[in-house]
Amino acid sequence: QVVTRFAPSPTGYLHIGGARTALFSWAYARNQGGKMLLRIEDTDRERSTEAAVTALIDGLKWLGLDWEGEPISQFARSARHAEVAHELVKKGHAYYCYCSPEELDRMREDARAAGKPPRYNGYWRDRDPSEAPEGVSPVVRIKTPLSGEIVVRDHVQGDVVFKTENLDDFIILRSDGSPTYMHAVVVDDHDMGVTHIIRGDDHLTNAARQIVIYNAMGWTVPEMAHIPLIHGPDGAKLSKRHGALGVEAYRQMGYLPEALRNYLARLGWSHGDDEIFSTEQMVEWFSLEALNKGAARFDFVKLENLNGHYIREAAPEYLYGVMIETARETGREADAVGLEANRDTVLAALPELQPRAKTVLELIDLAQFIYAERPIKADEAAAALLTNESRLVLAGIAETLGGLADWSVPAIDAAMRKLAEEKGLKLGKLAQPLRAALTGRTVSPGIFEVMVLIGREESMARLGDQIP
Ligand code: GLU
Repeated sequence: QVVTRFAPSPTGYLHIGGARTALFSWAYARNQGGKMLLRIEDTDRERSTEAAVTALIDGLKWLGLDWEGEPISQFARSARHAEVAHELVKKGHAYYCYCSPEELDRMREDARAAGKPPRYNGYWRDRDPSEAPEGVSPVVRIKTPLSGEIVVRDHVQGDVVFKTENLDDFIILRSDGSPTYMHAVVVDDHDMGVTHIIRGDDHLTNAARQIVIYNAMGWTVPEMAHIPLIHGPDGAKLSKRHGALGVEAYRQMGYLPEALRNYLARLGWSHGDDEIFSTEQMVEWFSLEALNKGAARFDFVKLENLNGHYIREAAPEYLYGVMIETARETGREADAVGLEANRDTVLAALPELQPRAKTVLELIDLAQFIYAERPIKADEAAAALLTNESRLVLAGIAETLGGLADWSVPAIDAAMRKLAEEKGLKLGKLAQPLRAALTGRTVSPGIFEVMVLIGREESMARLGDQIP
């Protein structure tokens, strides 16, 4: 059975690159009928907080990515990491090193002076432990083979060859008995039965070191896929401005999880020329071979267009709930209350609003006319349309509509056309100030639809507020 894992460090939130790694690990497990596990790499006690773990889990849940069983705490497994380190010493594949920081400094300087890269020189590798200085707690170092190569057989990068002479005898257990990151990852992945590791290619050199540990323990090295990192539109490292944010920031900007999933899937993986596909399709099509070798570039415009697509396609009932949640989460309490109090009208209006919005925030803005309080506050562009001259036009409109027997889109439409003709004006000349007066905006659904949605009484009252 295929077992993948997502192994984030809890540093504050689920960032967009991590979300993509999780998505790929999840999709591959699903595709193979396997499972994904979640391991929280919380060994850095200073940086790991309960709040950060919660943020990670919330982010994954919101994205719709689930994992099997309880999240596994790496820190909680420290004793096991130490046990394996000592086992390696017993087997002769690792050793205690008693070097003091000063000795290590000197070692590095000597190496530098000899024109070699500064690294540990294996001083304690073959030394008799009876020579150990008293009162020093040793670290445990792995015996990296002195010659030969480590080949990372990677599904994305191909065979990547590392000369072992460039990898020193790195520490696997610190003098306080805590494991290094390099060691903990290997022990955990092995114990968790992980068969496939999918992660960012910033871990590629770590992979070579980790293989040294796998080999020393005689454990099977999992399949690996190191995916290129996400870059900004300029090709440089992804910056905050260009999208290096937590998924909760995307949620608050009004992106739908299904849109973000689709977008992230395309960011580093492809299925022919398909741009829009459901998560089910992605799972069905997913393969490690189709992961891209080149760095993906984050493109907000593409994400926004995709989000617009998913907003158009979504069921109004679903969007309605998302709008309220998003309003609450972004501190728009008045919107949340207004939306809640006008459920039926908002639901009826949504098919008109959906094609006009690319984010849930835009959708909320567009719905505001429904529950806006009188007198309607016009935004700048709308206020510019409410001139003295157009207020006179509005008075004429109010008179015509006041006598209308039937308050329906066709009836209002016919009456307005007739009025426009009588006044020798284009219909738009009537509709523009009307929209400004009724919604306070220059963009809204069809203005006759708006009038039917908010009803005769409210429409007439809002018009009345603008008439001199
Ligand atoms: N905790 C590491 C990170 O957040 C990932 C480790 C791994 O996937 O092996 O970058």
